[in-house]
Amino acid sequence: MTARTLLFTTFFLAACGSELEDQIDEAADAVLGRASTDGSCAAQYRPLLEKSLRMARSVATTPAFQQCLDQTIRAQTTLSSNIIKGPYRACAGDPYATSSVSMQVTRALAFGRSSNALQYRCQTLADPNWGAQADLEEVGSAAETFTFNQSLVDPWFSQSGPTNDPFWYPHRMIAETAWHEAMHQHNYNHGSAAECGQSSTYDMYMQSMPYMVGGCMNEIFVQSAEHCGNMDQCGPTATPVVTGMGVTSCSCVYDPAPLAAPRISATGMPGAVVVSWPRVQGAAGYRISSGTDGNSFPWSWTSFACNDTTCDSIDPQTWGDLYYSVTALNGPLVESPRSNVDNSRGWINLSHASGVSASQSSTFPEHSEAWRAIDGNRDGDWNHGSVTATGWNLGEYWQIDLGAVRTVRQLDLLSRTDWGGDYLQQFDIYTSNQTCAWNNTCSWGPSRASQDAYAGPKTTLTVSRGARYLRLKLRPRTDLGNPPPGASVMLTEVDIWGN
Ligand SMILES: [Zn+2]
Repeated sequence: MTARTLLFTTFFLAACGSELEDQIDEAADAVLGRASTDGSCAAQYRPLLEKSLRMARSVATTPAFQQCLDQTIRAQTTLSSNIIKGPYRACAGDPYATSSVSMQVTRALAFGRSSNALQYRCQTLADPNWGAQADLEEVGSAAETFTFNQSLVDPWFSQSGPTNDPFWYPHRMIAETAWHEAMHQHNYNHGSAAECGQSSTYDMYMQSMPYMVGGCMNEIFVQSAEHCGNMDQCGPTATPVVTGMGVTSCSCVYDPAPLAAPRISATGMPGAVVVSWPRVQGAAGYRISSGTDGNSFPWSWTSFACNDTTCDSIDPQTWGDLYYSVTALNGPLVESPRSNVDNSRGWINLSHASGVSASQSSTFPEHSEAWRAIDGNRDGDWNHGSVTATGWNLGEYWQIDLGAVRTVRQLDLLSRTDWGGDYLQQFDIYTSNQTCAWNNTCSWGPSRASQDAYAGPKTTLTVSRGARYLRLKLRPRTDLGNPPPGASVMLTEVDIWGN
């Protein structure tokens, strides 16, 4: 039994408010995060998988999905095509097995709307009848990870219909499977009556949480397909969904996964900032915020102008705020990481400027890509999907292309916080104005800044020079062995301040 499971059991039996409760509620407040995959799912399959998961994320946020769960968990309910679900009966080991029914509904919905990222793979599984496979994990576990069964997925792709397929197939099959597996990842199980410690009348297909949550996902897809028409009518970031269980009206529901941070630029600084940014795909609006310390942004307004490609705003404030940020909005549930400017020093965060991209020497498997250090998300727990990690070879590096030669002033480097943050030491910063494609050589010149010892969660370095490319490269760690072992570059966020 892991420490986390033990902690949870203690919490559960004692029913005490605690840090753990907060931890669960934190995951419960939002909806499913971005999906990612490794190389095991063939490239031609990914668009269909991504679209299906995007539609499923939208469905998971809806009252219709909530109502389906509420009804089926409480009582036996006949769904479309005479599919019967409920009432829920716990399989041995299920979380909240002895809680009240209303608590079971609340938690099942929270896990169905977890903000956790989703990582999926494709493999041929041993049992051809399995749609997918996932491990049981503790409540609060950070990432949903599962594997589609290739032998079952293949027919889905070959049956993929036109985009106006009235039955929304196979999207609903993929969605149902994904949410079923996600419940396993929150430690809900199913099995025979004996395996689940239930009486002989127990039917896992009707009464287990994975089959019920997956079934409700499928049900809302089916109802929406019947009443809402073309699934693409709401554009590439929203899905038409029935406004309630058994209701025939529909509304466009935006994908709740986080939007990309707006890539801002600013003129008129210091003192009279004009902030502009390219339109963010999927954004339904923007919020501009300001504050005096760069950490909190207590004032906000929505006065700005957009044309087809860009938006901008002249500061309408008169009290001389120092920091400004832009957040993309996608309905009440979703907002992007913010991008910011420093109006006191006349700097912008170049990491969030337009045309910026990041790369690295190698990438650790699973949600560790170089762009995660410039996504504006300052959550340092690698499990939460906003931290980069390279492999563990000698000389690993992370680098950024600012898109054009910019005047770089200061680097704020945030290290990983859940583990291994102190690997961010004994590194050098190189700059170049030459084209430095990924993994190639170019003229980097001497180190322009360096850090010998771990500086804590935030390392600030001064770099005063023009540069288009910056590279953070680890030195061989002779203090760790001879020959020195490799180490990983792991970064939560890289804020490059300048002009
Ligand atoms: Zn299962």
